[in-house]
Order: sequence, then C-alpha cells, then structure tokens
Amino acid sequence: MKFGGTSVGSIAAIRETLHAISSNYQIDREIAVVFSAMSGVTNALQKMAFDASQNRNFASDLKWIEALHFEVIQTLVHPNHQNEQFIQFKMLFNELESILDSVRVLKEVSLRINDLILSFGERMSSLILTQLINDSIAPAQYNDARNFIVTDSHFGNAKVDFPKTKVRFEHWSKTASREVIQVFTGFMASDEQHTTTTLGRGGSDYTAAILGSMLHADEIQIWTDVDGFMTADPRLVPHAISLPELTYAEAMELSYFGAKVIYPPTMIPAIEMEIPIYIKNTFNRDYKGTLIHKTTHHNFGLAKGIASINEVSLINIEGSGLVGFKGFSGRLFSALALSQVNVIMITQASSEHSISIAIEPLDLVNAQKSIQKEFEYEFLTKRIETVSIENDVSILAVVGENMRHSEGLAGKVFHALGRVGVNIMAIAQGSSELNISMIIRKSNLSKAINAIHNDLFLSKTKNAHLVIAGIGNIGKALLKQINNQQQNLLEYQDLKLNIIGVSNSKKFVVNTKELNFENWDFQLSQKGIEGNLDAFINQILDTNLPNIVFVDNSASSLVSSYYQTLLENNVSVVTCNKIATSDSQINYDKLKLTAIKKDVNFLYETNVGAGLPIIKTLQDIIHSGDSIVKIEAILSGTISFIFNQYVGNATFAEVVQDAQNKGFTEPNPVDDLSGKDFARKMLIIARESGLKLEMKDIEIVPILPEVCLKAKTVSEFYELLGQQEAYFSNLKYQAQENQQVLRYIGKLENGKVQIKIELVGAQHPFYNLSGSDNIISMTTQRYLQNPLVVKGPGAGAEVTAAGVFADIMRAASSF
Ligand code: ADP
Ligand code: ASP
Ligand code: MG
Repeated sequence: MKFGGTSVGSIAAIRETLHAISSNYQIDREIAVVFSAMSGVTNALQKMAFDASQNRNFASDLKWIEALHFEVIQTLVHPNHQNEQFIQFKMLFNELESILDSVRVLKEVSLRINDLILSFGERMSSLILTQLINDSIAPAQYNDARNFIVTDSHFGNAKVDFPKTKVRFEHWSKTASREVIQVFTGFMASDEQHTTTTLGRGGSDYTAAILGSMLHADEIQIWTDVDGFMTADPRLVPHAISLPELTYAEAMELSYFGAKVIYPPTMIPAIEMEIPIYIKNTFNRDYKGTLIHKTTHHNFGLAKGIASINEVSLINIEGSGLVGFKGFSGRLFSALALSQVNVIMITQASSEHSISIAIEPLDLVNAQKSIQKEFEYEFLTKRIETVSIENDVSILAVVGENMRHSEGLAGKVFHALGRVGVNIMAIAQGSSELNISMIIRKSNLSKAINAIHNDLFLSKTKNAHLVIAGIGNIGKALLKQINNQQQNLLEYQDLKLNIIGVSNSKKFVVNTKELNFENWDFQLSQKGIEGNLDAFINQILDTNLPNIVFVDNSASSLVSSYYQTLLENNVSVVTCNKIATSDSQINYDKLKLTAIKKDVNFLYETNVGAGLPIIKTLQDIIHSGDSIVKIEAILSGTISFIFNQYVGNATFAEVVQDAQNKGFTEPNPVDDLSGKDFARKMLIIARESGLKLEMKDIEIVPILPEVCLKAKTVSEFYELLGQQEAYFSNLKYQAQENQQVLRYIGKLENGKVQIKIELVGAQHPFYNLSGSDNIISMTTQRYLQNPLVVKGPGAGAEVTAAGVFADIMRAASSF
C-alpha cells in the first residue's frame, strides 16, 4: 500500500490513511506500506536547498516543515511515545539544518546533496506513520529504503539496479517478520557507495512497485486523493470519469503523457511479475479503485483517457536537403541522447522535408547546441535550412488499446478540435496505435482537452454554453422558456444548456459556475460589472469553453458589430436583431462565410416573421436544388393590424393611434409606416433566395403621402395624418366597392423587390389575414402552380423568443 502526499498531508488525512491500513490488516493480509512526504514538503525542501545555495534565508520554510510534523506528533502519537519522537525529530532537523548551512557556505547545491535533502521528507512522514500504526493498529517496523533499493548514481532520477536490489531483499526476507506491518520510505534509494539517490519526482509509486515485485505481492495499491485513474486530469476536466480498468500499457502511456496519478516507471516491475495495481482514494474508501493489469475486460470504449504535458518546446528542422538524407534521424537522435535530451515526441512530414521534435523546455539549450554541433557541415552547405523553436506549446495524447481496431477515432478527435478552433501544430501516432498525440498552443490546452473529452466520453450529454445579450421583453421571455424546458432537454435530448454570460445595455456578468436560469437577474444586478461590450466579449472568449452560443436579443448595432469576432473565435451566433443581416451584402457574406469556415452556426430565423419558419424554409428550398420564381409577403404585423382595423368609421389616424396605444407600433409609428423595417425583411429574404442586393435596391412605395413624413414630432405626425384622411378613405372605398381589402405587400420577382399597397380580392391568398399576422407565399420551380405558404403571428415577445430558442437548439444539435 502506497500513500501519496495528500494522504499523509494533514491530521485528518492521516486518520483516513490509518483506517485504510487497518481495514486491509483486518482481513488477514500481510502488508508493506510506502509513504510519500507530507504534501508540499518535497517542494519546500527543494526550495530551501536552492535558497541556501543562493545564500538566501531558508529559516521560515524550515519552521513550516517543523511545525507541520510536530503538530501531527502532538495530536496523533500516543502521549507515551511523543517525547521519544520529538527527540528523534529534533535530531533530524538539526542534521537537515547543518546540511543546508553547508550548502549556504559552498553557495552551491549539487544534485547529490539535493537528493539527500529531499530524502528528509519521506523519512519524516514514514517515521511518524510507523509510530501511529504501532500505536493504533499493529506492530510496525520502519525501514529506510536506502538500505534496500540500489541504483546508479544518476542523482535526481536514478536508475534501479534490480539484480542488486533483489539480493538485498532476499537477505532481508530471511529475518523479517511477516506479522508486523513493514513501513518503507518512498522515493529514495542509494547507489553502491551508499550515497542517497532519488527515483524522480513522484517516485514513491515506483518504490511501491519495486517492493511489490521484490516481496512477490498479490497486489499493489496506490492510495491517492482522487477516484482512481480518470479519463482526464480532473483539475482540467471537471466531468472526468473514473476508469474501472486499464492495461499496463495504457496506464504507462497516459502517465508518460502527464497523468500524474501514477509515475510511469511504476508499471515496469509490476508488468514483469504480472502484479495488479489498484489506484484507490484515501478519502473515498468505498470506491473500488482502478485496476491496472495485463488485459482488460471492461468494454469502456475505444479511447481510455486523455493526458497532457502542459509545457514543451518544439524544434522544427527544415531543409530541402533532408529528402533522402540517409542516417539523418539516426545522427539527430544519437546527438540528442548524448547530451541527455529526452525526446518526448517526433513527427516527420512524409515529404521528409521537415522533422519536428518535442522536448522538455529545460533541455532546449542543450538540444540546440547538440544539433548545431552535429550538423555543422549541413548548415554550412544549406542542406538544413532552418531550425525554428516554438515555445508555449503543449502535448495532448489520446490513449486506448482498442483504438487500433477503430477507424473513426482520429476523425472524432480532430473534429472536436476543429469545432472549437484549435489548430494542431504536429501529430504523431505511435505504430502500436495505442495513442494519438498532438502538439497545440498552450493557451488552447484546456479548451482542447475538454472538447475531445466531451466528444469521446460524455457525448451522451452535450453541453451548450449560452451568452444572452439583451434582456428586454424577448430576452426575458427566452430565459423563462428555457428554464421551463431545461429538464426535458436533459432527459430527452441529452442536452444541457448552461448560461455563462448575461448583459443588458449597462451591465454584464460572466460566470461559468454560478449563473443559471433562475438567478441571472440577481447575478446581473449584484455581481454585474458596468463596462463596455468589448470587456464582455473578451471575458466570454477567455472562458475558453467549447460550444458557446451568443444570443443577441438586442436591437443594437453595437452588439451586432461583434458577430464577426465571435464567429472567428468559434462562437455560434443566434440573433433576432436584423441589423447585421440587412447591412451591406459584403458584410452579410463575410459573416456567413466565417460561420462555414469555423464550422459554427450563424442563425437569424427571427429576423423575418418572428418565430415563423421562413428563413429555414427558404434555405431548405435553395439547398435542395429548387429555385425561387416569386415571393410575395406581408411582413409588417403593425401595418397588417392597421389595415385590418381600417374598415369601419374610425379615421386612419385614429386606427394608427389605437395600434400605438395597444403597443403594436414603434414609439414613432412612422418607423413602421415608412416601410423601412419591412424592406429590411424583404432584403434578407431576397438574399436567402440567392440574390445579391443592397437596401437601396428595394423599392418602397410609401403608404403615407409625402407631407406626413415631414413631421418633426409624433403629435405633429398625427395632425398631418388626420389631414390626409381623404386620401386613405378613398383607398378604403375603392377596395370596398370591389369587395377587396388593402394590403401592404412585398414582392420579389425577376431579381427585383418592391413593396407597395395593393387591393386584393377574396380569391387572393392574402385576403384572409387577421390581426397582426404575417404571411409569405413562395412560388418555386417545384411549387409552381400552388405556392408554398407560411402564415401566422409575426411579432410578439413570446413567439420571437420561441424562434430564438429553436435556433439555439439548432446550433446545439451540431455540437
Ligand atoms: P499523490 O500525492 O497521491 O501521489 P499526485 O498528486 O501525485 O498524488 O497524483 C494525483 C493527482 O493526479 C490527482 O489529484 C489529479 O489531479 C492528477 N491527475 C492527472 N491526471 C489524472 C488522471 N487521468 N486521473 C486521475 N488523476 C489525475
Ligand atoms: N515526495 C516525492 C515528490 O513529491 C515523491 C512522491 O510524492 O511520490 O515528488
Ligand atoms: Mg504522485
């Protein structure tokens, strides 16, 4: 049983650890236990060693370590044994302090002394735990691993000499008692001269495996602070899943690529003796643990996990002279190996024109020097043209034994990255096909891992992150509708909508954890920051989340000016604001093209006819190879309402006033009656039909006589309108005489768009139109005799919000 730093990191944790040991002991098992240093201690020792070498003060760190251990002794060790332990620790601290003092005098800390200093951490934790096991579980024996594990003298990362180690253990086994719990210090060993060495950071896991193989253990248990080996680092991927099983090869590969939960060499002694390894959680002992062994039975899926190395350096060597350059790779890798540079990943373009290698940033200087030296002649003769370095890059690896049997996995991985706009700088697939590894920019790492993780492991439940800009009537209605529907979406569509940002014209709030559909109001008023849209958008992009949908419920041109940036950053845009779509053709095309290029959605169904399916129907018509012959439409609910009311005795001005009182018009009714808004909708329809047009190409035959447009105020407008009653009543009577009605109709035909008043009879499909309904009739090559007609309420907060909601669902369906 090996317990990591956090498992012995505090009084509470040590209590849990003791429980774990005693439960194993109770079921009559012979146990050997390995401890790491208390968490933070190895780092503190490392820092003190460095500080001492720089002649800096290390006293406060020393005090911290002392207090940390003394508190445990005082609280947990039996009072009868406390004194003895205090004395032992005083001596240890004196020794440590004098070593550090000599480092300070010498102004230098060799790797060899560094290892000696680091060894204090494990010695201290193991001494205390031996005493505690003795006090509360069973007789325990403290063993200093330096007396058993023999290594070479590669300080800091020593290589184990297994045959020599075996001899030591065999000798020990002859006299060691199997009844006592044998405690071993993790991480440390010694070379043949009995000088202290360490096995590399995280090496206590390795100690446990070495011990397991030497003692012919039935199993090796690695106790840590998470539920076993997970599909990804839970610190980076909050929804990571615990894995029931892994093969040694998978665990090795994942840990090699950064899954810190187990130290990669740990697998080597276990594989040889086929000892199963369990990763268990000290703080959740009911969890069964991840079983790592030779072959797995669980059919968990194709890939098992994703791991990453946060920071590597990428060296790209290029030159046309590399083509057919026999022995080049051999020389390159020998040179790097000679200068102790560890190559993490290699990729070579099939053209052989370039080769990229990823190494640890610490090795960069050495690597560059050795390449320059080895290929001096080739540089001189320009056979090698450039060696460029990329820093701030990360490696991301997807691992799983079953990947070799599946075709689509790489596609899925790359699709996930494409979807969130992460560029891949290099790709390698091991010939074992156990992993696909990629180099990406470090700033993209979190987004990339989460996107791949989502697609490979969580694809059942999709997450869409919503940003709601504009909380007027439509915004409010939308938030309410989503709130009511959320549970159903999760249950029946496996879609989870998360709200991550909300803004009104004054304030905004971005919060990826605490915002939700019920408290957005409170969050915005209490935690909202007053700020410009720029800051809002930046914060949204900084969340680095995949699958964001930006929902614009405003009517602001400022908001719509950000669509381009959003789409470029792989954020989908859903909008009921028609400013962007009725802007210049160039801008409209650019937005649509960006959305296609970035594989995200730009949806604006509600720009025409609120929630009525008009844009989508037109797009379907065009995409399915049909073409538009003619479109006729009534798209101004306000004007429809006014004409429908203008049948009795009331004057036209009175009808308009009534419509305004009922809230059916813009604050200034001229905005409706001028036909401008209708024209915008016709422009959008024309563009969806495949025409390239600008606003100025739409011919508006105004409803209002010209004098009315000269009004400077609303009341003046009503006055002028009243004076024009004869004009309107004339139209009315003309219509009534012929059993016709007045309609303001937009028409698209032969590439031209016109809006004007028409008188239509009972046989016309637009004759029966009640209230503020919209109607559109589409005559196409396929719907030639009988046009396709869409009709229904074309305005109002509820139906518009419903249309926006439908667009959000469409955007989410492609995640
Ligand atoms: P210990 O001190 O017990 O050895 P470590 O900190 O070395 O613990 O390793 C455990 C940590 O490894 C976890 O807390 C987790 O943050 C990290 N980790 C990284 N990748 C994974 C993964 N795939 N599964 C589980 N944990 C992981
Ligand atoms: N204490 C050592 C380290 O922090 C070894 C270990 O925890 O495994 O690296
Ligand atoms: Mg560890």
